[in-house]
Amino acid sequence: MIDLATLYTLIIGTLLVSAGLTLWEGFGRFRRASLRIWAAGWTVLALGCTVAVVRALLPGTSGWAISNLVIVTGYLLVLNGVAALDRRHYVGTSLLLVAALALGWLLEDAGWRVAFWHYAAGVPIAVASALTAFELRRNHVLLGLRSRPVAIGLSAMHAALYAARVVLLPLLVARLGGDTLALASKITMYEGVLYSVAMPMTLVALVREEAQRDLLAASRTDFLTGLCNRQGFFEDGARLLRRAGTEHSVALLAFDLDHFKAINDQHGHAAGDTVLRSFARVVRDLAGQGALLARPGGEEFAALLPATDRAAAKALGEAIIARLAGMRDHGEGVRVRATVSIGLAQHGTDGDDLDALLSAADRALYVAKALGRNRLITASPLFDGAGVEAPARARANTRLVA
Ligand code: GH3
Ligand code: MG
Ligand code: MG
Repeated sequence: MIDLATLYTLIIGTLLVSAGLTLWEGFGRFRRASLRIWAAGWTVLALGCTVAVVRALLPGTSGWAISNLVIVTGYLLVLNGVAALDRRHYVGTSLLLVAALALGWLLEDAGWRVAFWHYAAGVPIAVASALTAFELRRNHVLLGLRSRPVAIGLSAMHAALYAARVVLLPLLVARLGGDTLALASKITMYEGVLYSVAMPMTLVALVREEAQRDLLAASRTDFLTGLCNRQGFFEDGARLLRRAGTEHSVALLAFDLDHFKAINDQHGHAAGDTVLRSFARVVRDLAGQGALLARPGGEEFAALLPATDRAAAKALGEAIIARLAGMRDHGEGVRVRATVSIGLAQHGTDGDDLDALLSAADRALYVAKALGRNRLITASPLFDGAGVEAPARARANTRLVA
């Protein structure tokens, strides 16, 4: 019971509101290019619909031609905005599609022209929407964002509707008569109203989710080394321990670079930073994939190692000690000898949660410092017969306390 003019009026309004909202979002810090291209796309679509409303007033089929060309350009702008999220563009394809459609103007006016603008104009819209869905699907930056499948679904459904219009509508009109065309137009425009609200909202939501994800990642990442910071370490570490359950095959290495203040004093703070980055690379190289690596603060690092028994953790720690002690060049022209002391704690034996494990590893680390640095000490040496013997440990601790 809705007439086409009402639907067009609605769609022009929703598209302009969407354009305004998208443009406003584009004044922010994130994804300005895509947001502005989308805002232009929604505006151009509104313009195309406006021409469509008054097309009967224009001579011949020129109203059909102009409105369709403008509308297709709007969809192509939306596609290019999505492609720009991954630094891609469809400028060539877009020009080709618009040019192919413009060729319809050259058709002899033998009823063909009207048929062309009625049916064939849906092809570039279907192609542009299908490419939009394809671009959203292959974009790895957006992977995991909640709005991504929604945006893919909306674009794919829109493409399917226009493809069906092109393929099925001529058959239906031939069989059921001209009224079908009017009904199909209403259905298309009604879907258009829904699309012109849902798609812009979803794209803006996508950008916000991406920004939120990046900010969250930044708040959990150490700026200097790219490892986890203290917050990220505690959050991910607690999750890792929960997942490991009672298997107790998780080990923790706590690192503290030796005499780091002296390195800063002698070579400068910037050189100290370079050594911190170089040490992070060493740990990342040797620790392998599953390890949770962090710089909780200053010249202190930590590695939480799942599926790692005490012997394997000890071997890894000693490999790190040897690699660092053997390094002279830390990159960026910084040549300095640096060493590290390590405390090793084992999940279960030395503690059940991250706090307890860290304190146990820290205690072992202090013993390593007291015994001369550049070494690894296990928190419970009696369990593997290695590390420092209990009396020596007690002596070291006493000295520290004293
Ligand atoms: P120890 O062997 O006992 O650990 O001695 P240390 O000098 O390493 O320990 P101390 O705690 O006295 O000094 C740590 C130094 O680490 C002091 C601080 O200036 C430096 N430091 C902390 N964070 C950074 C950083 O981000 N960059 C640089 N360059 N230095 C840092
Ligand atoms: Mg320290
Ligand atoms: Mg230190």
